[in-house]
Amino acid sequence: TEEVLHQQDKLAAVGQLAAGVAHEIRNPLTTMKGYTEFLQLEETHEERQEYLSIILDEIDRVNNIVEDFMVLAKPKAAELEERDIIPIIKNVVSFLEFEARNRNVKIGFEYQQDIIQIECDENRLKQVLLNFIKNGIEAMPDGGNITVRAGIINNQVQIAIKDTGVGIPQEKLKNIGEPFFTTKKNGNGLGLMVSFKIIESHNGKVFIESELNKGTTFNIVLPAKSA
Ligand code: ADP
Ligand code: MG
Repeated sequence: TEEVLHQQDKLAAVGQLAAGVAHEIRNPLTTMKGYTEFLQLEETHEERQEYLSIILDEIDRVNNIVEDFMVLAKPKAAELEERDIIPIIKNVVSFLEFEARNRNVKIGFEYQQDIIQIECDENRLKQVLLNFIKNGIEAMPDGGNITVRAGIINNQVQIAIKDTGVGIPQEKLKNIGEPFFTTKKNGNGLGLMVSFKIIESHNGKVFIESELNKGTTFNIVLPAKSA
């Protein structure tokens, strides 16, 4: 019946995703294997340096996939618990500050209330914030500013992540969040798909505002924990 079909659809979707992820991981492994074999041959110093930097790039690529998917590796359902999001956001911001500074990016955090309680799976919410802020940093190749704002509006918790980056062209907006949609040389197009699913599992929504060469804002809206 319908429920069974639904399950089969889901399994098919999981199978496609797994095949896609396997492909994303196999490509860099194939490249690394090839260049490691070149390294074994007698080559000049310059050539060796070039091969090593390709290999390091590919290691980054695999590492990014693992990072974007980290929390989903745990096969349990999202566990919602009452938490204050302020320290959660502070934690993610300080985790990314070193990388941001290296790329000339400043991250600011502004909040309306000292405590903002929501029902959330803390690790998964951290994953979402990490993915959004990382994308913001990557959208500003010459540096810039990321502003994270948190507040309660109309009894809903709003977290906005704003960057001063390249923006998203109107015609690309519909592709945002599709698995494997990426415009980056070393991207995998999995981070937003994972993030949107996590927000959905929190009964929340994500709204995107973007202007070319001005920047992009990802607005997360989540139900507030009523006092
Ligand atoms: P990846 O970062 O590996 O490309 P994501 O799923 O995180 O995959 O993002 C998918 C695509 O969405 C990016 O390649 C980029 O084109 C676009 N995008 C996401 N965030 C931003 C942003 N803050 N500014 C501009 N483009 C963005
Ligand atoms: Mg990303």
